[in-house]
Amino acid sequence: MTDDLLLPELPPGRGSRPRWSSLREAQRQTALVFAWAAARPGAPFPASPDDCEVCRTLGAWLSGGAVPGEWHKEHSRSQSGGLAAVVRAVAGARDAALGNAGRRQDGVAIRHSHEELHLLLTRELTDLWADTTGAGAERRAARTQEVLRFRAALDALLAEPALSPFVRPGWDGSDGRPVLREPPATGGIADRSKAFFLLHRHRFQDLTAATMGDYAQVRRREAGAAAGSLRLYDARGRVLELTGLTSGYEGEGPRGTLWVLRAAGLPDAGRPDLERTVFERRAFRWPAEPEPARR
Ligand SMILES: [Zn+2]
Repeated sequence: MTDDLLLPELPPGRGSRPRWSSLREAQRQTALVFAWAAARPGAPFPASPDDCEVCRTLGAWLSGGAVPGEWHKEHSRSQSGGLAAVVRAVAGARDAALGNAGRRQDGVAIRHSHEELHLLLTRELTDLWADTTGAGAERRAARTQEVLRFRAALDALLAEPALSPFVRPGWDGSDGRPVLREPPATGGIADRSKAFFLLHRHRFQDLTAATMGDYAQVRRREAGAAAGSLRLYDARGRVLELTGLTSGYEGEGPRGTLWVLRAAGLPDAGRPDLERTVFERRAFRWPAEPEPARR
């Protein structure tokens, strides 16, 4: 179970597809996002690696430091297969002492993927600020650098009023149930929807189902009406709606949809026909048949 999460099997390749290494990177990222939510329910995914215990712990280990004992014990007790796998890699400090290069390689790969997640989040926030305020290319580049280097710059960015609808969205009850919706005006960018998911995943319980397709309220939406929206439903019936993702063809948008569905840890998300469903159907429900609530 834990090895499946850490190094999942990939379906056989076909047609024009991204390189295998980038698929593998996406698989590792989604496993890590799922592991974070499972091990830290209610805790936001940190924007900065400096605030991230996975990055800090792996960084300390890889630079030759000891693995903090309490951290290891605490996570070993958790029921999370995913983070347990991370912890096993971290605890591989013992193996490293015995010259186990494989474990160290795992640690390097996990740390890299985790840093990519923080980078994705901060990059999308900076881009959104630039898009919203009309900042030119130079200011955008300078601010991205600042945010990556200085903690205070990241805090200032997160506090920007221009980012408020994205960083601090309110619940929308007009659908009859609480919906947290990515602002449609953010542009239909797959990575931006991933960033919105990273920012707000912790506000939901276990995610149990998803739908993709045309919905009345999507069509009614005034600004940036999207052709489809990915909706994720949690165990309490709350909805996380992402407006930058698509399905029905092989491209960036559907790959983003796959990424989110796997990171959400939906039931049966490891099945190969999830990929076929996302690439071939413009509207779908996952899992295909309603299932009794798990856990
Ligand atoms: Zn991290």
